Parts: sequence; structure tokens; C-alpha cells
Amino acid sequence: MDKKTFKRLLQYLKPYWKRLIFAFICMIGVGGLSGLAAYLIKPALDGVFISKNKQMLMLLPIAIMLTYFFKGMFTYLQGYQTHYIAEKVLFNIRNQLFEHIVYLPTNFFDKYHTGEIMSRILNDTEQVQNSIANVIPNTIREIFTIVGLVVVLYVNNYKLAFISTVVFPLAAYPVIHFGKKMKKIGKRRQLSIANITMIIQETLTNIRLIKAFATEKKEANEFLDESDRFLNIKLEAIRIDEATSPLMEFIGSVGIGVLIWVGGYIVFKDMLSVGGFFSFMAALFMLYKPFKTVAKANNEINTSIASVERIFEIIDTEKEKYSGSIRFEGVKDSIKFENVYFSYSGDDKYALKDINLTIPAKSVVALVGESGGGKSTILELIPRFYEPTRGRITIDGIDLRELDLVTLRRKIAIVSQRIMLFNRSVKENIAYGREDLTDEEIIKAAKDAYAHDFIMKLKDGYDTNLGEQGVILSGGERQRIAIARAIVKDPDILILDEATSALDLESEQIVQKALNNLMKNRTVIMAAHRISTAMIADKIVVMKSGKILAQGKHKELLEKCEYYRKLYNLQANGDADIV
Ligand code: ADP
Ligand code: MG
Repeated sequence: MDKKTFKRLLQYLKPYWKRLIFAFICMIGVGGLSGLAAYLIKPALDGVFISKNKQMLMLLPIAIMLTYFFKGMFTYLQGYQTHYIAEKVLFNIRNQLFEHIVYLPTNFFDKYHTGEIMSRILNDTEQVQNSIANVIPNTIREIFTIVGLVVVLYVNNYKLAFISTVVFPLAAYPVIHFGKKMKKIGKRRQLSIANITMIIQETLTNIRLIKAFATEKKEANEFLDESDRFLNIKLEAIRIDEATSPLMEFIGSVGIGVLIWVGGYIVFKDMLSVGGFFSFMAALFMLYKPFKTVAKANNEINTSIASVERIFEIIDTEKEKYSGSIRFEGVKDSIKFENVYFSYSGDDKYALKDINLTIPAKSVVALVGESGGGKSTILELIPRFYEPTRGRITIDGIDLRELDLVTLRRKIAIVSQRIMLFNRSVKENIAYGREDLTDEEIIKAAKDAYAHDFIMKLKDGYDTNLGEQGVILSGGERQRIAIARAIVKDPDILILDEATSALDLESEQIVQKALNNLMKNRTVIMAAHRISTAMIADKIVVMKSGKILAQGKHKELLEKCEYYRKLYNLQANGDADIV
């Protein structure tokens, strides 16, 4: 972890500094008392068992009990405090992350898959939480314990202590080596979890498609492949993780063998009492667990660092710029595209090239042309889902970027072939963003959208839950709910992106009637997949490969635009959709 990441993490801990200090004091207490516990063996052996001192016999058991009582208490208090801090910090990070994500610009969601984002909010935070609650504090506590015990070693016999403090750090080398490996594995593991989440989610969302194509086997195999990769990564991690302890233990046993040789010799020479030697050995054995914890911490902390970096990567992605300050009150004159170029990737693969287009207020402009021609892209630029790469878009002469984004979007309604519904009641879906609406207003909108009748036939009427993406409704019904939602929004600008293209002829007619109600007295820009729908427009714009070929009325275009004529003839001959 570089310094900056570390400093940022500290910022999150800052509000809890008092608790941190308290936890820290408890850790020192635990360390000191562990040392004392080891030390007490010396008077216990020498005083009680060798000298048979009665007073010592009375006092020592009490001293041992008190030592462990306080050590336990400190351990408990420290554990509670660090868990408390970790829960709070991650509570904050998780909330900040989610809030940040909803404000991220649309292109972020083109780049990151839903599963990947979910994994960062859920798995990565969990990993970091464990580090703050357990791994790091336990490590620090064990370091104090090590200090306490090492003091006992030196108090008993500095020669023996010196030998052991040289031998045991040798055990640290393989640990450092494994730590580096673990960090790499940690990154790969999180990636694999994200992939698995993505596969599950995508399979569940598209389950009907999968069944229709009878590709269950193929999808299941894809999961198995990723699952296999995940298993291998985990096994690799386990191999390293599990090798660490036995290896250290073996190195430790060699050290202890040496100590018994040397220590026995020193005791024989009367330079150390028997009690002193056993207290020494006890301290040495007690060192094993803290060393193990400290050694393992390296691996765990490295995994968490990968998680922290992935979390900060999202937090560092810039939010949408709400820079503008001019309130948007509605189009008075016109919306204008002035030499607009746009590329999704930011390079020179332009989805729109040199677009010049005027949409007069309260008029209907229709975009027609081949699929992939750039119609939807034009529509997406108006609510500023994306910003032009070059050129500008203005409303009444004001650059979109100078308008207050919230007031702009509040006055735009979008109805597209991709219908978006929440897993909430009909009522909540229609009144989305307008919690102030009365039932009468909602019903009126539903009637205008030709949705009232079928809503009344639902199990609980307006209170019926629509299920995920409105599964309980037909395509046309879903679209009419979306239209009702647009009606209550009472937008100034209406964007229609092939709103009827996914529907059968019958539903299309009723949805078209609903749309006609919605379009009244608004500035409308629509992408039309049928020239017949486009013909109602005041102006038709013909698009091909990101460029405007021609614009004008239907009759004019038939005369002057060969491509338009071709489209029209294709459809007149029964080919309903533009290909
Ligand atoms: P239309 O609506 O006329 O069918 P689009 O505006 O959707 O066309 O697409 C224009 C071009 O931009 C196409 O080449 C398409 O592949 C590309 N495109 C559309 N959406 C994205 C996106 N989110 N990321 C990258 N490229 C995109
Ligand atoms: Mg489109």
C-alpha cells in the first residue's frame, strides 16, 4: 500500500481516535500481563516447589488468577473497541461507496459490470472490515505480547535470550516471501469472485433466453470454468497459507533443541535457577502464537490492501459534473446541436460526427435511419448522460453544461424500448420521483396512458407489486406504466427512443395512443423505427453512420434523399423494421 492510500484509510479512523487510544492501552496491558504470566513461573517453581515457602504458596495462585483476570478483561475491551471502530468505518465506507456510485456518470456503468460493482460494495468492504477489526489490532496486541515475553527472556538470562532472539527471526524470512505471493493471489481471487457474481447475475436475468436457446449446459459450463479457476486460486492460497505455520514450527523446534542444550548447561553451572529456566522456556513457547499471528497478518493485510485499492478506485472515479448553475425552466426557443462530435470511448471512433440540428420548442422531431446510425446517442446527449466530445448543445442559446443538471433532468422524460421498472407497487412506479402525488393524479395519468383498465384487473390494483423489471406485465403494459410515469413527471422535453419497437402491432396501437396524449404540447425528439411513426413529426432527420444525411418533411425527403427513399420503399413493401 502506498503512503497515500494509507493516509486515506487513516482519515476514516480519525473520528474514533479516542477509542483507538483506549484499545491501544488495552493492548499494552495484554502484552505486559502475558509477560507477567510467564515470569510468575519462576517464583512458583523456585519459591513454592523448591523452597517450599508457605507464604508463596498462599500468594502465587492469587497472583496468577489476577493476572489472567486482567489480561482477559483487557482483551475483551480491546476486542470490542476495535470491532466497534471497524463496523463504523466500514459502515461509512459502504455508504459512501453506494452514494458515490449512484452519482457516477453513465459511462462508468458501460465500463464496470454490475457484478463487479456489487462485489466491491460487499466483498471488498468485508475484507477490509476484517482487517481493521481483527487482523491489525490482533497483530499489534501480539507485538506487545512479544515485547513483554522478550523482556522476561532477558530478565531470566540474557545469554540464552540473545541466542534465541537471533535464531527465531530467521523464521521470518519465508513468511515475508509468502506475503508477497499472497497479495497477488488476493487480487486474482477478488477478480474471480466478481466474475462468478457476474455470471450468476447474468444467467438469472437471461434465464428465459437461455432456456429458449437450450444453452443451459453451455452457461453452466461457463460457471464451472470460472468456479474451477476460483478453486485453483484458493487452493494455491491455501498451499502457501498452510505451509507457513509448519515451516515456522519446524524452525522453532530446532531453536528449542539448541536452547535445551545450552540452557541445561547453564542451569548445571548454577547460573540460572530451575524456576528461571522454566519461566524462560514458558515465555519462549508463549512467543509462538503471537509470532504466528504476526506472520499470518502479513498475508491477510496484503489481501486487504488489494481490496482497499479497489474500493478507492471507485471512490476516485469522478462524479457527474453538476457544474451548471442556471435553472432550467423549459425550452422557449429551441434545442440546438452545434457541430457535435461524440465518441463513447474517447478516441476517434465517433458515434456522432458533425451533428447540426435544431429542435424548435413544442415541435416534434423524428430521427430515422439504420440501426447503429447514432439515433439513441443523440437522445442520450440531451439529458447529459454523456457529454459531447467536441461541439456543443444549447437550449435557447445556453450551453447544456451551464444548466443546473437536476432542474434539466427533472424536465425531461424518456420513454424507450428498454423499459425500466422497480420491484415496487404500480403506484410507486408511476409516481416515481413524485412522492407528493395524490391517488387521483396517479389514476388520471394511468387513464391517459391507457393503463388504468389493466391495472384494475391486477391482484391488488394500484398496490400490486410489479416484480423484478415488471415481470408480471406484458411488454405493452409495461410500456404504458412507463408512459404514465412520464405523464406525471409533466416534462418539458420528451425523448422517445423506439418506444414501440419491441411491441406487437396491437399493443403498439394502444401504446401509440398513450404516447399521443403524452406528446401534446411538449418539445419532442424521437427515434423512430418506422417511417410511418416519423411522418407525424414536424421535421424528419435522416441519419447514417453517425451523420445527418438530410432533414425536412416526408415529401421533401422522398424527393431529395435517396437513402430515405430506400428506407421508405423497404418498409412500404412490408418490411416493417429498418434494418
Ligand atoms: P441507433 O440508436 O441509431 O441504433 P446508437 O446511437 O445506439 O444507434 O449507436 C451508435 C453507435 O454507437 C453504434 O456504433 C453503437 O455500437 C455505439 N454505441 C452505442 N452505445 C454505446 C455504448 N454505451 N458504448 C459504446 N458504444 C456505444
Ligand atoms: Mg437506438
